[in-house]
Amino acid sequence: MSLFDWFANRRKSAPIGQNSRERDIPDGLWYKCESCSAMTYVKDLRTNQMVCPQCNHHIRVTAPDRIEQLIEPGTWQELDAGIHSCDPLTFVDRKPYSDRLKEYRKKTDLVDAIVTGTGKLASYEIALGVMDFRFMGASMGSAVGEKITRLVETATARHLPLILVCASGGARMQEGILSLMQMAKTSAALDRHRQARLLYIPILTHPTTGGVTASFAMLGDLILAEPKAMIGFTGKRVIEQTIRQKLPDEFQTAEYLLEHGFVDAVVPRTQLKQTLATIIGLHVDGIGSRFYQALAVQDRQREQHQDHLQDHLQDNLGAANGSHHNGHAEVTNPNTAIATLEPTLKPIQSADPDLPDSDQHQEDGAPIDVANLDTAAADSANTTHKNETSA
Ligand SMILES: [Zn+2]
Repeated sequence: MSLFDWFANRRKSAPIGQNSRERDIPDGLWYKCESCSAMTYVKDLRTNQMVCPQCNHHIRVTAPDRIEQLIEPGTWQELDAGIHSCDPLTFVDRKPYSDRLKEYRKKTDLVDAIVTGTGKLASYEIALGVMDFRFMGASMGSAVGEKITRLVETATARHLPLILVCASGGARMQEGILSLMQMAKTSAALDRHRQARLLYIPILTHPTTGGVTASFAMLGDLILAEPKAMIGFTGKRVIEQTIRQKLPDEFQTAEYLLEHGFVDAVVPRTQLKQTLATIIGLHVDGIGSRFYQALAVQDRQREQHQDHLQDHLQDNLGAANGSHHNGHAEVTNPNTAIATLEPTLKPIQSADPDLPDSDQHQEDGAPIDVANLDTAAADSANTTHKNETSA
């Protein structure tokens, strides 16, 4: 039995309740709730944002539907629509990864597992990314990581609050280490967004797992989750087998994480937009903005002071090198001179393109090359994709 068959057999024997949550959103007139079996008119279900009116079960929504739920009509502007995964490892499991990608593109009408852009939520301009579980379990490959990073960079440059609606099976194994690198790349971009004192709210939906939980999903200023969403890194059974202990039934649910401090609030989908508008309002208009403005002024003053100090030390260094016999007390004492100059020497060194240090620096930037490759490949491959769909 191949490894794949083994996994397929395990899936077949999984409890019915677990599989039934994986079903797609209904297209027909009536929808039978997978949680309480109540029949609901699909139009009513959509009006209620795909939440069962009988039992409050949150049915999974697509990225376009989620954008419609959160963003004011006519204000959505999609970003980087052409970026999609290429097949960097020419990976083949049961079928080639490239075929798999084509199949999902046709099935979902999406280019990859996330849609990003900007638009208005209530009266606030925001940057929004929505992962779509229909596309390969919203696994994070190079394209997903790149699109998130670019969205975060746009939010930072335009001083926008950022919201990411997360749902993912984790890193995309067909891209190997390249998919794992997206964890570091997205986290670094979020850190720059944070340094600019901007607001970031991830919304964790069912299910958010693996590398996504281990990176951007858990780096929010406030972390919101949908009721009963499964949130975790590794599956419950694997953890139980590893630590040889029985875990509680509600382990890895949004409510359990809220109780244990990993999530700040569990917000029903029907109240999500209003909740986000209130939080963003507090940050943008309220006491938060005045607090951050004061901090920004402090930052600028500190930077100016540091620049001034650096210039002063450089002048003194020049004086110390040029004239040893002048006898300035601060610089002629070698210990003082080295101790005070050391921190200022490092940035000067790395800024000099002729020094070997900067060559090293370029090698460290390898993930950026990967991203660029993706984009270049994305453009050409996107053209191919268009031809295919039109054919
Ligand atoms: Zn129900």
